[in-house]
Amino acid sequence: MGEQVCRECHRILSSQTCPICGSSNLSSDWSGMVVIIDPERSEIAKKIDVKVADKYALKVR
Ligand SMILES: [Zn+2]
Repeated sequence: MGEQVCRECHRILSSQTCPICGSSNLSSDWSGMVVIIDPERSEIAKKIDVKVADKYALKVR
């Protein structure tokens, strides 16, 4: 437990606010971690609309 996910961009955070979109709308109820290394070439990154390399959750409730 402990890791929170931004509801706006699905980024997995270690802080209380999202550094990408500045949102503090977080959820601890998420599943499916995906690591985006190269957002330019990643099909998953396009699908979940990710432009910054990081860890993301596939499902956020
Ligand atoms: Zn965010």
